[in-house]
Amino acid sequence: MADLGLGKETTKDLTRIERIGAHSHIRGLGLDDALEPREVSQGMVGQTGARRAAGIVYKMIKEGKIAGRAILLAGQPGTGKTAVAMGLAQALGEGTPFTTIAGSEIFSLEMSKTEAMTQAFRRSIGVRIMEESEIIEGEVVEVQVDTPAGGGAKTGRITLCTTEMETVYDLGAKMIEALQKEKVSAGDVITIDKASGKISKLGRSFTRSRDYDAMGPQTRFVQCPEGELQKRKETVHVVSLHEIDVINSRQQGFLALFAGDTGEIKGEVREQIDMKVAEWREEGKATVVPGVLFIDEVHMLDIECFSWLNRALETDLAPVLIMATNRGMAQIRGTSYKSPHGIPIDLLDRLMIISTTPYAEAEVRRILQIRCEEEDVEMSDDALELLTKIGMEASLRYAIHMIMAASLVAQKRKAGEVDVQDIKRVYSLFVDVKRSTQFLVEYQQEFMFNELGGDGMEEE
Ligand code: ATP
Repeated sequence: MADLGLGKETTKDLTRIERIGAHSHIRGLGLDDALEPREVSQGMVGQTGARRAAGIVYKMIKEGKIAGRAILLAGQPGTGKTAVAMGLAQALGEGTPFTTIAGSEIFSLEMSKTEAMTQAFRRSIGVRIMEESEIIEGEVVEVQVDTPAGGGAKTGRITLCTTEMETVYDLGAKMIEALQKEKVSAGDVITIDKASGKISKLGRSFTRSRDYDAMGPQTRFVQCPEGELQKRKETVHVVSLHEIDVINSRQQGFLALFAGDTGEIKGEVREQIDMKVAEWREEGKATVVPGVLFIDEVHMLDIECFSWLNRALETDLAPVLIMATNRGMAQIRGTSYKSPHGIPIDLLDRLMIISTTPYAEAEVRRILQIRCEEEDVEMSDDALELLTKIGMEASLRYAIHMIMAASLVAQKRKAGEVDVQDIKRVYSLFVDVKRSTQFLVEYQQEFMFNELGGDGMEEE
């Protein structure tokens, strides 16, 4: 862990700040090729039933068969609902837009509920915009030279753009030499004299100077009739529908994207954008990448939001909707009815429900261990044992939060490793919810406001 290079340490620190979020250790669903969950993989531990179900959802999304449906993750607090949603988004790939909001965030003073929901929806739909560029005959797409470990004969291939399409040539030793002499790399335009194998470089392609490797699998070459040079498409960037809305909204302008203060966007702007995107799709200039919208604490939404969601799921530009709740029977906000998870029956009907279950002690220990690694905290076995007990009795979330605090306490006494005494210290400094509630009950008369005995906030 010791890193003495000063310069290096600075860079490391910067990346660490970005890296450590509550779920930063989650890198996927941790499934094998048959979509079966591995016990511990990609930062995921246990919760195999929910992960297996999420694997099926993953497959449905990949095959485009999820339209009009949504997923509900139901389970007690701290059982990994957000972690599973996050894992699913990661598994879908880096380019997949993933938006997460809490149900209560919809009720902001700055915009109407439906506007907030619309923005969340459109943030979760990506538009992959393609650009056209000329195929240049003789342009090098890829050069590959293999040198066997023990030296000896070299083999290689070069891929060139020709009028037919990309053409792969197998290289002989002579050609490899000529390539190396001319320092040919992807993006160059060359001619090969077929008789002598001589290669000459005509310069870099002016339309394509970027590295082909960086383009990834989206680079496609179009087969074209002989003698005619054709256009090819390449992905330029993925933006969300919401970003296109903001940029094209005269009131807002693109600067609003940086300020994060996008306000309401007019319906007409969105209609125009949708038409434009449809046009681009028809012309092959763009494809739509449906992302994932995760709504946590979904029971906080009210009846109007639920009807909006019901309708929005029908549209063809809908992201995959994943919701989470830790409520059982609850009142549907804005009504006097109770319903499972506080969600109206007509919406519940469309949901695929995945339940998460409380963790066994060994699983809590493993999750805490992974979090220690993620936060670069060394912890003794005894301390981890104690922290696991706390995780089981108080909550996993509380135990996770204790890691960093305990590490600071250990640092203060100049210890390189968190020990039992540091855990005990943090446990006495910060109370968990159970102890805090007990404290409130014991001393309720001394607090200024006291709603105990009333209906509580849930019932309006
Ligand atoms: P809430 O109902 O309170 O929103 P939740 O069910 O969404 O809780 P999470 O926030 O996902 O719970 O879990 C709490 C913490 O434990 C997070 O840091 C999460 O990344 C981690 N965690 C939960 N389950 C797992 C798991 N199976 N593997 C690895 N880490 C997990």
